[in-house]
Formats: sequence, structure tokens, C-alpha cells
Amino acid sequence: MIQYALQCSNGHQFDAWFGSAAAFDDQQRRGLVTCVVCGDGAVEKALMAPALTRPAGDKVAVSAGHPDTAKIRELLRAYRHKVTSEADYVGNKFAEEARKIHFEEVEARGIYGEATRDEVVGLAEDGIEFLPLPDLPEEHN
Ligand SMILES: [Zn+2]
Repeated sequence: MIQYALQCSNGHQFDAWFGSAAAFDDQQRRGLVTCVVCGDGAVEKALMAPALTRPAGDKVAVSAGHPDTAKIRELLRAYRHKVTSEADYVGNKFAEEARKIHFEEVEARGIYGEATRDEVVGLAEDGIEFLPLPDLPEEHN
């Protein structure tokens, strides 16, 4: 058995199992492979299977059910808004800029942006202070 991540011409992605690669090719050629969502017969192997775009085990910490969840989310949203409205957005250069500010190569200022997991680890190792910017689901209270 072989599993393929498939995509129809309408962009639906789904996984399907086939007896072999040859069996998939044969069924696809005869139009027997159809989209599980819309029934479209123009199905191809997805260029990027979801499992490949995101490394296995790449997790984010989450919580739910605490009685003060709504209040905490409110505070986090206010915090996020404060940072994003007052600090400079530096995009992917966050680690680089944070390092420059820490070593006083540039004038101190608030910044926010994106950093890879490796960059975050590097900043922590260098004793550079930063806070995670909460990635909140929008207004679902
Ligand atoms: Zn479809």
C-alpha cells in the first residue's frame, strides 16, 4: 500500500491509499480517482504534502479551559496590540535587529517580527531579552 497526498483541480487536498504506484497511475489515467470533497476527476499528486511542509513534531504550546481564559486572552490581545502599534516591524530580521539593539550597535527601540526556532534559541543563549508575541485566534470569544 502507498499513501499519496492528492489535490483536485478545485484545490481540495486529501490523502488516499493505493495498492501501488502503478495502481494509482492506472486509476488516475482512467479517471477513477476522484476528489473526496467535490467529486472532481482531475486529481493529481499534491506538490507539497502537508506532512512535508511542516517538520514532524513541530508543535506550539496551547491551553484551554482555564476559568480566566477570556480575561487572559483579552490581556494578551491588548499586549499584542500595544507591541504591534508601538514597535517597529522588522520582519525576518528580528534576531539580527534584537542582537544589534542588545549590543548597542543601534539605538534602543521596540521591535517585533519573526524568528526561526533556531534564532530564538540563539537569542536566549546570548542572554538577549525578548517575549513571544501571542498568535491569537481573532475575536472568537
Ligand atoms: Zn475537489
